Amino acid sequence: MLALNTATLGHNLDGHGAGWTPEEVIDVCAALGYGGITFWRRELGRRAQQIGERTRAAGLEVVGLCRTPFLTGPLALPSEREIMDDLHRSIDQAAALGTNVLTIVSGGPEPGTKGVVESQKIVADRVARVAEFAASRNVNLALEPLNPAMAGNRTCLMTAAEALTLCDQIGVQNVGIAIDVYHVWWDTTLHDTLKAQAKGRILGYHLCDWLADTSDMLLDRGMMGDGVADLRSIRCAVENAGYTGYCEAEIFSAENWWKRDPHEVLKTIVKRFRKFC
Ligand code: ZN
Repeated sequence: MLALNTATLGHNLDGHGAGWTPEEVIDVCAALGYGGITFWRRELGRRAQQIGERTRAAGLEVVGLCRTPFLTGPLALPSEREIMDDLHRSIDQAAALGTNVLTIVSGGPEPGTKGVVESQKIVADRVARVAEFAASRNVNLALEPLNPAMAGNRTCLMTAAEALTLCDQIGVQNVGIAIDVYHVWWDTTLHDTLKAQAKGRILGYHLCDWLADTSDMLLDRGMMGDGVADLRSIRCAVENAGYTGYCEAEIFSAENWWKRDPHEVLKTIVKRFRKFC
């Protein structure tokens, strides 16, 4: 089952993408046979509920919402109170949208600390403090480990194993992980880790590819089939751990796919999904 993460169309970042409205995205995805869509908060504004209903009326599922604010690190909001307030708002938005998966990108090392261990503890604490609130709104929280190349400022969780360990520490039912090809493709321990620890814990699976000659860690993701990730093997690891949800195409690509007509991008994803994933 294929879903679109709207980051793939670029419009969630200023100055990028074709500027499609959520309604345009929904209609074209429905026409092309996608099963669901994951939105970004920025697209919703105060229309979360309306956009959720519109998506379901078109026969699609709202697969998820991206994402919570950074919980730690130099890119996080300046105070703990602001972070926690925005975290609660993101949960409310996911509930209004009618999705049960909200993705968490942890944020990097907390200013004043070195390494990632202290920051991981802060993330665990902050997630634990909102977990019950999220559960009351039927929202599951998906910790997404990011490629170590992003650990300077965007993440303190770099592997599926670390994210699963954090889940165990938090110890509640509605906190799990998201697996994104871009972040885990290099990890030769992934199969074993997921097999041993991830049963029932995987809340999302994100597709793209890692380009051999990538020019930007954040905004030069490849289309499936254009890179070096073993897409079939990773999907197999995820599904062997019991994941039955969507494969969600999430391609940040400022210089290539974001410059193309979204119709072409969305059709290409369908073709590549069938051929390579
Ligand atoms: Zn992702």
